[in-house]
Amino acid sequence: MAAHPDPATPSAGAGLPLDLGSWIGRRAETASTRPALTFEGRTLTYGQFLDRIDRLAAELAAGGVGHGDRVGYAGINHPTFLETLFACGRIGAVFVPLNFRLAGPEMAYIIGDAGLHTLVADADRAAVVDTVRSTLSLSRVLSVTEVDGWEALEPLMSARAPLGLPTRVTPDEVAIVMYTSGTTGRPKGVMLTHANLFWNNVNAMFSFDSSQNDVTLVAAPLFHIGGLNVNTLITLQKAGEVVLTAGFDPAETLALIERRRVTTMFGVPAMFLFMAQHPEFADTDLSSLRSLVCGGAPVPEPLIRIYHGRGVPFVQGYGLTETAPLALVLRTDESATKIGAAGHHTLMLSEVRLVDPHGIPVPTGETGEVCVRGPQVMVGYWHNPAATAAAIDEQGWFHTGDLGRMDDDGYVYIVDRTKDMVISGGENVYPAEVESVLYDHPAIREVAVIGTPDARWGEAVTAVVAAVEGPAPTLDDVREFCRDRLAGYKIPLRLEIVDEIPRNPAGKILKYRLREQFGGA
Ligand code: AMP
Repeated sequence: MAAHPDPATPSAGAGLPLDLGSWIGRRAETASTRPALTFEGRTLTYGQFLDRIDRLAAELAAGGVGHGDRVGYAGINHPTFLETLFACGRIGAVFVPLNFRLAGPEMAYIIGDAGLHTLVADADRAAVVDTVRSTLSLSRVLSVTEVDGWEALEPLMSARAPLGLPTRVTPDEVAIVMYTSGTTGRPKGVMLTHANLFWNNVNAMFSFDSSQNDVTLVAAPLFHIGGLNVNTLITLQKAGEVVLTAGFDPAETLALIERRRVTTMFGVPAMFLFMAQHPEFADTDLSSLRSLVCGGAPVPEPLIRIYHGRGVPFVQGYGLTETAPLALVLRTDESATKIGAAGHHTLMLSEVRLVDPHGIPVPTGETGEVCVRGPQVMVGYWHNPAATAAAIDEQGWFHTGDLGRMDDDGYVYIVDRTKDMVISGGENVYPAEVESVLYDHPAIREVAVIGTPDARWGEAVTAVVAAVEGPAPTLDDVREFCRDRLAGYKIPLRLEIVDEIPRNPAGKILKYRLREQFGGA
């Protein structure tokens, strides 16, 4: 096993300018005229980017945001997302990105749990937040474009002088709180420090074939750690150029790769699959790509082979929000020989081991729970020490809930999940959250939610329902019922009606039986 940083001092590097505010400031000094961010055909240089960040930072501070206060962002990909993130860094505030697909009550829960001081939202999300606004205790709401009842950000930024001196922030401080769906139905806030983000990227740079001349296409959502850290922040740290798109569209992505000579991109398997299935794929010039980085969900081998067949190095990364996110990375030069592996068990700065249910490492070749230790592992869950203690053991090993197997050369293959999660289109769906909504449906007596294989989304959220007497609910009824209560990606795509949900003698639902019956894994 490789040497690892002492888990008691995860922020090795204290005193160095590793925090977001410092390094983006340094980039604006050293690479002022290089392109930083391109969105809808307009490019900001690093100098211009920092100027906008510091105007926004000054505006947030003038509105009362102080060191340690939380600022939320709800919106699809847009430069303002990244400007708000870095503006928070410049004044020592904590950035809280929200999944833009969330319904009003889901947003309200996170806004309350994180205790947001200020929320920045785009017009569509502002409309969703307005449905629950009376229940929220936000001090300030700012909108990316003009929205009734919200202060529009752009004129405020233009009128405001850039921040003077940034706040001194140590690498140990929390930079972002990122919410992931919780196993008990409530999302948990993952606290990632500036050091976590920084060391994750240093770790990754040793594995990806990294270059300052990168043109990185970012079409994955920025609210997710995969879209944000791999490889948006990595690219900005290197003074490369980020080409940002508002959302993912396979045709647009292929056209941009060719037109902008894109060198790298992160995506979940569904994105790369949709690109490969697109009629333009065969004729698109992919020669500028030096790597495609795929992760966030199991990566099917045939997908890897399609890209290898086109001569594109297709590397896999494995990780979680809690590991900022990379725990395993398959290097470009290994991707052809270790197809299907998620990476070697040691990265430059961190390590992975596989353990049995008692926490004892399993022999090579046997399946065990993937555990990660290193400077990228979160400091804990926001306001939830019990959940933190359950996830990180006394030796600093973070228990992922995923199962893996290691080969003789130390490469890890992810084989299954111990947790009850469904991954649909790269989004995690915790059945408990969907079940608790469906239990309120008047025609549903009992429900169990499972994932079933789906050619398009990887897994389909499938509701297995025992109905009350009378006509059974239809899939349309169920979907309509969920519409204002759950984000779209959590709403069941399949409905199966059964007489009884199978349970063991202790009353626990036997989901494996349902998976056998309805084609789940
Ligand atoms: P999230 O916290 O949203 O990034 O989700 C993390 C989960 O995604 C992990 O616990 C895994 O179950 C899954 N995951 C991420 N990367 C991979 C991968 N390369 N192969 C298989 N599953 C993955």
